[in-house]
Amino acid sequence: MELKIHLVPTGEIVLTPSKDGGCCCTNCFKVVGSEGARVTMESALTARDRVGVQDFVLLENFTSEAAFIDNLRKRFKENLIYTYIGSVLVSVNPYKELEIYSKQHMERYRGVNFYEVSPHIYAVSDNSYRAMRTERKDQCILISGESGAGKTEASKKILQYYAVTCPASDKVETVKDRLLQSNPVLEAFGNAKTLRNDNSSRFGKYMDIQFDFKGAPVGGHILNYLLEKSRVVHQNHGERNFHIFYQLIEGGDDDLLRRLGLESDTALHLIEPQGNCPKVSSINDKNEWKVVRKALSVIGFSEDEVEELLNIISSVLHLGNVQFAGDEQGNAQITTETQIKYLARLLGVEGAALKESLTHKKIIAKGEELVSPLNLEQAAYARDALSKAVYGRTFSWLVSKINESLAYQDAEYPGRKSAAVIGLLDIYGFEVFQHNSTHSLAMHYWNEVLKRRTSHLTILTFINNVCLFQWEPVQFFNNKIICDLVEEKFKGIISILDEECLRPGDASDLTFLEKLEDKLGGHAHFVTHKLADGKTRKAMGREEFRLLHYAGEVNYNVNGFLDKNNDLLFRNLKEAMCQSENKILNLCFDQSDLTDKKRPETAATQFKASLAKLMEILMSKEPSYVRCIKPNDAKQAARFDEVLIRHQVKYLGLMENLRVRRAGFAYRRKYEIFLQRYKSLCPGTWPHWNGRPADGVATLVKHLGYKPEEYKLGRSKIFIRFPKTLFATEDALEV
Ligand code: ATP
Ligand code: MG
Repeated sequence: MELKIHLVPTGEIVLTPSKDGGCCCTNCFKVVGSEGARVTMESALTARDRVGVQDFVLLENFTSEAAFIDNLRKRFKENLIYTYIGSVLVSVNPYKELEIYSKQHMERYRGVNFYEVSPHIYAVSDNSYRAMRTERKDQCILISGESGAGKTEASKKILQYYAVTCPASDKVETVKDRLLQSNPVLEAFGNAKTLRNDNSSRFGKYMDIQFDFKGAPVGGHILNYLLEKSRVVHQNHGERNFHIFYQLIEGGDDDLLRRLGLESDTALHLIEPQGNCPKVSSINDKNEWKVVRKALSVIGFSEDEVEELLNIISSVLHLGNVQFAGDEQGNAQITTETQIKYLARLLGVEGAALKESLTHKKIIAKGEELVSPLNLEQAAYARDALSKAVYGRTFSWLVSKINESLAYQDAEYPGRKSAAVIGLLDIYGFEVFQHNSTHSLAMHYWNEVLKRRTSHLTILTFINNVCLFQWEPVQFFNNKIICDLVEEKFKGIISILDEECLRPGDASDLTFLEKLEDKLGGHAHFVTHKLADGKTRKAMGREEFRLLHYAGEVNYNVNGFLDKNNDLLFRNLKEAMCQSENKILNLCFDQSDLTDKKRPETAATQFKASLAKLMEILMSKEPSYVRCIKPNDAKQAARFDEVLIRHQVKYLGLMENLRVRRAGFAYRRKYEIFLQRYKSLCPGTWPHWNGRPADGVATLVKHLGYKPEEYKLGRSKIFIRFPKTLFATEDALEV
């Protein structure tokens, strides 16, 4: 039987059932034994020492990083993967299934205060939910951490919690199903095996879960960011393309595969040009295929739509295998006719038109059409650009289709908005590879912006709560300088990149690098490969620059920067796609692509703008934080790599979080709850307090003899500075 003991300063302790739920504080811990058993203080302390504290705020030596990591290690060893820093949840990826996510566990967290139960992702979910219901304020849960730390798993657990515990009706059940089923679909198309994570999200995701006045989930909306499209044409060694390709080939039946030209003997070759890693032990593509097919129909994709979607997926594979040879003039000629035949059918375009557009370039200058042949390199470029565009736009279509299916419709009052929203933010984490490209830069920039804004939010929340009575100033690492380095007008990396992209003439990746060196050389967070004596800096290539991010140093290779930023598709390829009979492609490539005279915004500028919008959304909501930690690089259970973890503790800003919390108050309790629990200790408040809860608490603490420096009374809560004050009060209850 699981029992709870509460530390009292003397003598023996009697074990009591833990489900009483009435314990006072986060210092409680569980031991296993029989009810009524007596344990000595010593053994209780040993038990406590073994499992560590469940809120870092209670660490005696709270400024010590070593003590912090030690506590994390103790808990990890006991499979206690969750620990609080006040209300921030720190989660360490266990890399194994733990029995802590059952329906019973969910029930245990429902409607219960944070400190009454052990730390859990469900506690954060429930807390946000209740705050949304009682305070009628939109919430958001921001999940951060590096690649493989468990962000996506955390966001799925939150969603499951709401699906199981929120009020239901038939209509709501459909919405819940769709919300849950959107995950396998988006993961199939947007996740891939990387060196860091077998199920790495290759796009950023922000999801709103919309609730009605009764607190039932009635709709949802997803915003997707920056899919790593280049993965469809290139994967690093040991990595894979997006899961969906393997799922289709492993799971699709023979008839389907034959129709798509993906018979088993050729199929794997089609998806494995570079990664050389078709099988991954942790992934069962065949099963996943079934899950995804079912999910697509739950969400409401028609059979026709699924067929067209699969045509597109297969066409991307076939495109990857289109080969060229040069004729006498060096012009590209297609040598893989079979592929073109399949492509014409799958993409719903004329074979001849497709061939022409893969080997020629059309530009319109002064109203005249100029067509010129492509050389081998250009043709390969055009082919890859088409694959990326087709896949990227189809992914966006997929998201919009899911959004249609999740859209909230009030039957009685069409057009009425949902009552409140909880947003979940799951972005791809900071990840450093040997070769880092524009995509990595965009991700790291995003992490910088988020870090900056969320530090700001943390301070704001803190100030809101305790503003006038903070005791010690807390220094935050301010990463504004790095955000500016990337985004500042005229001087930042994005501006310099855009300038090169728009400059006619000899602009290239290398001229871009030179401009960076000219304009940013000497900046504290920018390092060029050039040394003063003309030599190249060690561990840096000639095509690289280095940024000193808050989370660490990253070398970026400029190769392909301009291209990716321009994200251009030759006009005749666009024309060919606009003619497509495939309905999805027809929506993805419309005539405005051809008629729009204005140069489209560069990828970086679009990204910067969508990020700014996201930050606005987040700032309008009440935030909660989940900080995920990856325990080792080997993706193994029970391995606690201290160096790796220390690095994450640093860049997740956990010591800062803790200092903020300690600088103010270790405990905060709503007046009603505090009064309810301790009213029996004061004749003035027992058995009922008839006035305002705030006044009742004031009476109570006065009677208990709290000293002014031990507590403050806020708007809706009492703040208690030291754990010992609360323990003494709790002990008084037991006498
Ligand atoms: P990325 O930034 O690459 O998308 P991520 O932070 O989203 O990474 P996840 O995909 O959530 O990482 O987690 C990686 C893997 O770790 C999961 O596939 C799963 O195997 C394991 N994992 C994460 N969290 C848990 C958990 N709470 N329980 C069991 N296993 C987990
Ligand atoms: Mg993820």
